[in-house]
Amino acid sequence: MPQTILFDKLLLGLYELTNKQRQSPYPYPVLFQQVCQHLALQLSTSAPRTLQGWLNLFHQPIQSWWPASYALPKEFASTDSLLIHNRPSDEAVAYYYSVLSEIDATASPMYTTVAVENRLFRSLYLNLKDAYRDESNAEQREQIQQEYVQLRRFLIESPITTTNAIRRKFWSGKYVTFPNVCDFYEPCNDGQTQWSCHHCGPLHWEGNALVGIRQSICNYHPVEAEHIWQESSEREPILRIRTGIHVRTCFPGLPELFLFNQLGKRQQEQPSLLKAVELWPGVDQYDIRIEFANGMAWAIDVKDYQNPQRLLPELKTIDDRNGLDYRSAFYVIPNRWIENNPHYLPLLKSNTDLPASHNIVSSSQLLDRVDLHLKSIRKPRRKP
Ligand SMILES: [Zn+2]
Repeated sequence: MPQTILFDKLLLGLYELTNKQRQSPYPYPVLFQQVCQHLALQLSTSAPRTLQGWLNLFHQPIQSWWPASYALPKEFASTDSLLIHNRPSDEAVAYYYSVLSEIDATASPMYTTVAVENRLFRSLYLNLKDAYRDESNAEQREQIQQEYVQLRRFLIESPITTTNAIRRKFWSGKYVTFPNVCDFYEPCNDGQTQWSCHHCGPLHWEGNALVGIRQSICNYHPVEAEHIWQESSEREPILRIRTGIHVRTCFPGLPELFLFNQLGKRQQEQPSLLKAVELWPGVDQYDIRIEFANGMAWAIDVKDYQNPQRLLPELKTIDDRNGLDYRSAFYVIPNRWIENNPHYLPLLKSNTDLPASHNIVSSSQLLDRVDLHLKSIRKPRRKP
């Protein structure tokens, strides 16, 4: 059971309270009530007296009011607030789906709801991984890998879709079937039209503004903007990716695909120097593998974490088994997190103990390194 149980309870309670399907805040979720009672005792005279007062407090940086006697999880940036515009903040969304969903719900049933969506993708992924590693399936490996890549790309590229589109794409799937894929989507029940943003995916109305899941990095959503589009349910009911899958698979997958496409371009331009660029090799043993003409291979793993503290425990030696060995490995941080935080990379570099073959770089630094390496192995032209 985690030390930060009071914080976790508050976050779970707030999620239930601000759930967009909920018509009214009454009755307050039980967890939310319990936590506010605890906090009121600790905060004493400064404790809010109304629901609105509590909500205002939750819009403040948590370090400015959280009682010193209760633990705060180190994975939550204490300079952030729990809410932004009455919705869970980006930091709260990330904590909810990356920390809470990993907790074994048998330890405490309060974690059950959040674990469900996560298990959905995880169990399919583990089955595919087992099937891939199974020696008796050796001849099927290529197909398993191909179906996994098709699924993952579809989830990233099609946050809005229809049952027919899923059927067309997955009708012949042996390892990833049509019903498997449907499980990752839910019907759009909140109107005839679903709005979406090319940068952050499905949007919903908050008053008269459209908002997405990452309010702090993507909050410009006027209906007439070029990156905003809408899909109508008139001809065929539309489906929207489930929030947990959106947060954990779809949104972080965008920088992975971006990098893969950039590397793919280089391979097309210089096929004699860049032999192969493979996405999620060995059913996601790591994100991208590239092989150069001089026989050298690099392993690349993209880590899409806004908060470097949450990323630190994930930085381990990249798995080189199953014929996926490499000379150099790169943890790649999307530019979007580094642009506004000059301390991000130095903090990671000074707090990890990775082998010398491992590098931590931004997306643009990685592409520069690839270009430099391609240049170094290019044979010099003979002088006439
Ligand atoms: Zn957006």
